[in-house]
Amino acid sequence: MTSGIAFSWIAFSIMVAAFAHYKRRSLIGWLAASLAFSPIFTCIILLCLGDNPDLKKCPKCAEYVHKEASLCRFCNFAFSDQTEKDNLPRRGKFRTLQQYEKWKEARVRHLSK
Ligand SMILES: [Zn+2]
Repeated sequence: MTSGIAFSWIAFSIMVAAFAHYKRRSLIGWLAASLAFSPIFTCIILLCLGDNPDLKKCPKCAEYVHKEASLCRFCNFAFSDQTEKDNLPRRGKFRTLQQYEKWKEARVRHLSK
């Protein structure tokens, strides 16, 4: 009985760690947190956090690199202002359409300098 619970705990922790890895977060860190606290608890936290905001996707090789990177470490793709322009965030980031439009105008003005 106890070994069944322990097995389920470990199995769910591994699933949470795999999910964390899919969300571009630390596999080992989330596995340790799941084992130490609770796989259900860490899974809820992970769902609330979403994707790692410190990473951006390379348009050439689709690998994730740090958002400050100007060169992809996998394929040496050089991120330019044009790529940044193509990666404009979706509207969901802003509370109102006016906020988004204002941000977009400022961004386009900044990039076309
Ligand atoms: Zn790349």
